[in-house]
Amino acid sequence: MSRDKFDVIVVGGGASGMMAAIQASSRGKKVLLLEKNQRLGEKLRISGGGRCNITNEEYDVRAFLSHYKQAEDFLYSPFSQFGIVNTFVFFESLGLPLIVQARNRAFPDTQKAIDVCNALIACLKKNSVTIKTNCDVKKVNHAGGKVISVETPQGLFFAESFILSTGGVSHPETGSTGDGFRWLKNLGHIVKDPTPTIVPLAVEEEWVKSLAGVSLSFMKITFYLEGKRQFSKTGKVLFTHFGLSGPLILNSAGDVSELLQNGIVTATIDAYPDTNLADCDKKVVNLFNSMKNNELKTAFKELVPAGTARGIQAILPEIDFSKKVHSITRDERRKIVNTLKALPITITGLMGNDRAVAADGGVILTEVDTKTMRSKILSNLYLTGDLLHINRPSGGYSLQLCWTTGFVAGNSV
Ligand SMILES: Cc1cc2nc3c(=O)[nH]c(=O)nc-3n(C[C@H](O)[C@H](O)[C@H](O)COP(=O)(O)OP(=O)(O)OC[C@H]3O[C@@H](n4cnc5c(N)ncnc54)[C@H](O)[C@@H]3O)c2cc1C
Repeated sequence: MSRDKFDVIVVGGGASGMMAAIQASSRGKKVLLLEKNQRLGEKLRISGGGRCNITNEEYDVRAFLSHYKQAEDFLYSPFSQFGIVNTFVFFESLGLPLIVQARNRAFPDTQKAIDVCNALIACLKKNSVTIKTNCDVKKVNHAGGKVISVETPQGLFFAESFILSTGGVSHPETGSTGDGFRWLKNLGHIVKDPTPTIVPLAVEEEWVKSLAGVSLSFMKITFYLEGKRQFSKTGKVLFTHFGLSGPLILNSAGDVSELLQNGIVTATIDAYPDTNLADCDKKVVNLFNSMKNNELKTAFKELVPAGTARGIQAILPEIDFSKKVHSITRDERRKIVNTLKALPITITGLMGNDRAVAADGGVILTEVDTKTMRSKILSNLYLTGDLLHINRPSGGYSLQLCWTTGFVAGNSV
């Protein structure tokens, strides 16, 4: 049994746990940070494709919070304590200035998630936080409306206050295996089951899978429910061996999930979102006139994004692509044009938590004090980050939640 008594124990050394430990220790608290992995911040290290989209540069708090939908009101108080400007200042103070790129997304100047992780770890050490890695918390003991200790294979650890920062369930190989959800249920909290929200889509068509690895920067995708148009989005699409990913797809997944509950969901990708059908046809006519004596497959490469010709040809098995362009009939040309304007896709589902960037689920917000992140059930327990049931889009909104809720919890213990 550990004889050390800490002011604060933080369970989980991800983004929000490290932030909470930094803030509590900055206030002179004696802090113990327990992490079951060999090292801190496994998920942070892979965030933003290894570049770590730390936050989103929107200084109008109301406008920023509107992205969290039902959680908007709950988050107003935490964000008035630690908002976007604070995030910029905080990372700058760690020697890691941020740069802002497309769609207001802020990244470390170095474009390396590992630098974010290392800067946080350096700060924990500077603040004399006791860090125990390879320390898997098995149980949270409580009595009289308070947490008393946490049990680990390395012994029992006691503290005045506890901050749970064990994350959600997405990418469980990073250590987020839902332990916190199970404990909190047992402690009497209502915990919404997680469903992946920012997640790639699985599709049926082989032509999509055959393009795995190809990324297209400006495509329009339109979703249909039982053949009826629902919504469109324009942006970057990434083809994978199971379906579609990329920012545009990830941010459509929440809405697609709802559609999937009501029937068959299909989609079309418009490879020429800026050109209407008639102009697209003219473009093809002009190209065909200039390449009359070439094989269709050669001319076709000029019409589609690099690396996609073979995959897209597979959608049109009735057309012989080895024919000379001059022998293409008007009907065949129209079929080609119609296909380029509406590449057909059938959505079979969302990919699972293993591939999700975020899942909602977690403790419902009515059971958490908005000013402190304190549990309303156990008076010395605080909750941060992905443990809270908050839906949000991609673009830095998840990590900003971690900085804000981690700061508030660390500042309140
Ligand atoms: C691939 C990917 C890319 C992402 N990119 C971005 C991005 O660019 N921008 C953005 O805003 N968001 C991004 N996110 C989301 C963001 O990373 C998460 O919202 C954030 O990391 C959650 O932080 P957290 O502190 O709540 O939990 P986590 O980071 O999940 O940390 C929880 C920690 O608790 C530990 N733990 C769990 N159980 C125990 C236990 N029993 N005992 C001890 N320790 C335990 C885990 O090992 C883990 O280290 C991404 C997510 C993924 C999966």
